[in-house]
Amino acid sequence: MEGITDRGFVHRGDPLQLVRDLTKLLLEAGVVDGIVSGVSKEGKVVLHVVKSADELDEAILGYVLVHSYQGLESTVRAIRDRKGDRLAALVKPCEARAIIELAKRRRIDLNSVFIVGFDCPGMRTNQDASGEVMEALRVTPGDEVLKDACRRCEVHAPPYADVCVSLISSPEVTLVEAGTERGAKVLETLRGKGVIIEGQPRELITKREEKLRLLNERGRRTLKEEENKLLSVPGHERFSWFMGQLDACVKCSACIRACPICFCKDCILISKRKEYTPSLFLVTRMLHMADSCVCCGKCDEVCPKGISLSYMLYHLGRKFTSRHSYLAGVDFSRPPRTV
Ligand code: SF4
Ligand code: SF4
Ligand code: SF4
Repeated sequence: MEGITDRGFVHRGDPLQLVRDLTKLLLEAGVVDGIVSGVSKEGKVVLHVVKSADELDEAILGYVLVHSYQGLESTVRAIRDRKGDRLAALVKPCEARAIIELAKRRRIDLNSVFIVGFDCPGMRTNQDASGEVMEALRVTPGDEVLKDACRRCEVHAPPYADVCVSLISSPEVTLVEAGTERGAKVLETLRGKGVIIEGQPRELITKREEKLRLLNERGRRTLKEEENKLLSVPGHERFSWFMGQLDACVKCSACIRACPICFCKDCILISKRKEYTPSLFLVTRMLHMADSCVCCGKCDEVCPKGISLSYMLYHLGRKFTSRHSYLAGVDFSRPPRTV
């Protein structure tokens, strides 16, 4: 993570309580008008913007952070679409990357968003909503349950956040650091309240760096293996597999609605979908996403036909990014390549 890294802090105890204390402070100090969170409604968790500290006890903060896919409106879309409010969002690195891409395209104003970014060891395909959700941000899932998109993920720490939180280096200690001046001010206040303590043990910093290195390497290795496997198949078989995937599409638009990036107000693919064949529909979508897909895999989660959209986008995007040395959502200084 870029920014202020020379002032690190630690929190001992329940990380969810740290998140509660942090978000409460953001509301009480007037840093933001609301926290993107969740509430329970008719047995389901739905996205909800919490506007007062009293509401925070009922808010399902960790659940939204871990489950911002799977039926919930995406946190990033909530920030993007609710203009006028200054909001705080708890995000994983792929979501932080989506925010960066949208900021570059002037769809999100970073001055009105306070980002609390978390290191992410990868999400499980069968993520259990009833369990200890914060554990999902601490423990690396086994290969057999790791989401496909997470297996390919090369960015396990948020490239940008006002405050970065990391649970991956220790079962007891949470590392916290500021990425911006306003993040630093907030952490200083939390330190004053005794919620966090200044200073991070060197061995935990090293452990975090090593874990991130291994996680990012796993992503690059998986990509390489997938690419080699793809290239080992004769061209005509590759083509038929690809066409089979495209033709299976029923143009339901679920992947568009779930995607944190897709931002066109009047999406032509949705309004004119009858005029598109399934393959043209998906190819058009993939071309639109070639330089902005952050490979979060939310589209895979919602596709009723089990189409591996993130896989296809990853390998298509990979060709694009290696040609232009552009990886979506990691660098503010590089303008998007297709806009
Ligand atoms: S793609 Fe998966 S591993 Fe990477 S940040 Fe997102 S949820 Fe975490
Ligand atoms: S296209 Fe799919 S993988 Fe890419 S950003 Fe959108 S939802 Fe995520
Ligand atoms: S969710 Fe699946 S079936 Fe629906 S439009 Fe997207 S790729 Fe096609």
